[in-house]
Amino acid sequence: MARKTTRIGSLLYNAAMIPKKVVQHDEKPSEKRQLPSFSLVELYAEMKNIGQPAFRARQVLDWMQKGITEPSQMRNISAELQQQLTERLLCSPLSLAERQCSTDGTRKYLFRLARGGSVETVLIPEETRATVCVSSQIGCLLDCPFCYTGTQAFSGNLTAGEIIAQVLAVKADLRDEPLPENLHSHVTHVVYMGMGEPLANETGVHQSLHLLMDENGLKLSRRRITVSTSGLTPAITRLGDTAPVNLAISLHAGSDTLRDELVPINRKYPLADLRAALDAYPLPVQRHITLEYVMLDGINDRPQDLAALAHFVNPARERVNLIHFNAWPESPYAGSSKQHMNTFAKQLIRKSIRATVRRSRGDDIMAACGQLKSQTDILLRKVTRTPEKTGAKQRNASGVKNEHELGDNNE
Ligand code: SAH
Ligand code: SF4
Repeated sequence: MARKTTRIGSLLYNAAMIPKKVVQHDEKPSEKRQLPSFSLVELYAEMKNIGQPAFRARQVLDWMQKGITEPSQMRNISAELQQQLTERLLCSPLSLAERQCSTDGTRKYLFRLARGGSVETVLIPEETRATVCVSSQIGCLLDCPFCYTGTQAFSGNLTAGEIIAQVLAVKADLRDEPLPENLHSHVTHVVYMGMGEPLANETGVHQSLHLLMDENGLKLSRRRITVSTSGLTPAITRLGDTAPVNLAISLHAGSDTLRDELVPINRKYPLADLRAALDAYPLPVQRHITLEYVMLDGINDRPQDLAALAHFVNPARERVNLIHFNAWPESPYAGSSKQHMNTFAKQLIRKSIRATVRRSRGDDIMAACGQLKSQTDILLRKVTRTPEKTGAKQRNASGVKNEHELGDNNE
């Protein structure tokens, strides 16, 4: 099969000079601080500032942990405090515009941001855990040609408050409408695998990680949080230094030639840099970095691709997660067959590399990896990608299953 040439072709990749699709929303993030970004310590300071007793801080935080951020719904705080919070802060930085529920329990939410624009969030429930997949940016600048999110006009980084507000809104939804009994109805895990490149938004992502892990806040162990990145190596190192949560890498190719095409940030941070960053990333015992590998028919699933992948992997610290390609309207690739994915996994295992093929979730509502794209954007007709004619086959979406890397498997 002829190799697809990406539309950015031979352009030397440089994130700072990407020639595309930056949409400015009229509204800017509000000058007001966002309530979901407050830690308990900061709430104490806020109460002091406005002349309220310290115990009110805990009350407000307790409401937030139930998913309630509107002061008018915080029943045990005074009307005066409700008014003060409403006037001084942006209490609900996002609101639910639409929710879609999959037959397997997966829920996809479209949230409208108070400052304009919208993002998507996904809940993936299982028997013993429920994972929230959060967005970190409005769109993505990084332009991986197989990714639907990458087709969206980029219009900014999410703040920590907007990231945490996604988790809180899902909590509220689960409380209002629990899942069937066979599924877990409390958020146990958070993965940064929604729209955007988390490590291109270090401020919002680092602050939100600290809030998720805060002993007085959402109390999620670092083992229950996963950041997925396309490989911004200096930022991987900084993440390891300050908030060493589980790491997933969107690898998708084991050679620079192919990765330059499939994950264009590779032109800036090639595989040798990525290898060094991964080898230095702090890992608790018996934990692994996940290398995500979306399997594209005739593109990265050939014997030479397997050899390059096997050569790149450090089997002592990394495992490979083979992902079904989720087709999207006019996507320029086709996914490898299930059978071929299983064979590919077995061949990796024979080389003593841990490899898994993930099961499908939420594909009937386009809730899977790489399928997130806000409706607002579609309505505004900001889509700028026109798939090039390539040798890649088109595949009916219903014939392609999808799946999520759910972060840590063991807890
Ligand atoms: N930007 C980050 C976080 C997004 S996570 C990153 O790239 O890691 C989304 C995951 O889904 C990434 O591994 C991405 O490579 C993968 N993905 C993107 N498009 C996909 C598609 N159409 N089918 C399957 N996986 C896809
Ligand atoms: Fe952005 Fe990740 Fe999609 Fe690449 S795969 S375009 S980095 S969201």
